[in-house]
Amino acid sequence: MKLVRFNDGRIGVTDGQRVVDVTTLTGVDATAWPPVGMNQVIQNFAKFATAFQQALNTQLGLPIADVHLQTPIPWPNKLLAYPVNYHDHATEMASRGLANIQGFFLKANSSLSGASEPIELPALPGREIHHECEIALIIGKTGRQIPVEKALDHLFGYACLLDMTIRGKEERVMRKSYDSFTPVGPWIVTADEVPDPRNIDMKLWVNGELKQEANTRDLIVDIAHMISIASSAATLYPGDIIASGTPAGVGPVHAGDLVSIEVAHIGRMDIPVIQGNRGANIVFEKPYEFVRAS
Ligand code: MN
Repeated sequence: MKLVRFNDGRIGVTDGQRVVDVTTLTGVDATAWPPVGMNQVIQNFAKFATAFQQALNTQLGLPIADVHLQTPIPWPNKLLAYPVNYHDHATEMASRGLANIQGFFLKANSSLSGASEPIELPALPGREIHHECEIALIIGKTGRQIPVEKALDHLFGYACLLDMTIRGKEERVMRKSYDSFTPVGPWIVTADEVPDPRNIDMKLWVNGELKQEANTRDLIVDIAHMISIASSAATLYPGDIIASGTPAGVGPVHAGDLVSIEVAHIGRMDIPVIQGNRGANIVFEKPYEFVRAS
């Protein structure tokens, strides 16, 4: 099943063409702050699944092109991310900070944005802002110290994820935490729709030119191990998001670009890039030259 958050915090189910509003079925107050409705839906999904499917089967809904797709989970307990998680990306970055050596880092939850929202480049002349093509793992069940063989029981679903990054030597958390630096969507696909987590293709294009292409079989730390390792340190909660780490081919984006990401069995997002006038500070005053190692 595919779950969306749309317009002003409405919860919907979609077949990829139509969106059927199921907000009233869930009891979620779409206007509540903080916006944790989707976290509650994920926590109680077993209770809702049949009614959601029935709503999709029997109601016309809205054409998906006519709705504003928001980020599915705007208020996770945490947004975890793995660093370099493919050997080819490690080579291009000349990086030894592999996912199995460094573990996860965090991004600000407020960097999350949705499929209908642009990436806003901060006003940082002298800095490259790169696309990183990743998969979002959405946690469905609370757990701590989850063994690898049980890890997929805690996986609710997947989404496409862009981990936008200012290149430089400054604190990684800040370089990756600007507003709109984590587009997630276009929806959450429940885990049962992905036949094999060890065989998921993903691709990223800029203006139609293929830049990144990978399959989860080439991950250094695979999906089950990502969940297990994260949970050894931090209790995972329904709605938590784990970014998988990116393969080779990262590169700069500019105002006017269109970044497209497609993940097999999951979906596709086409995200425009716009130039903002905010974001400058003393930290990023000095220019930084990104040099690809290979
Ligand atoms: Mn990344």
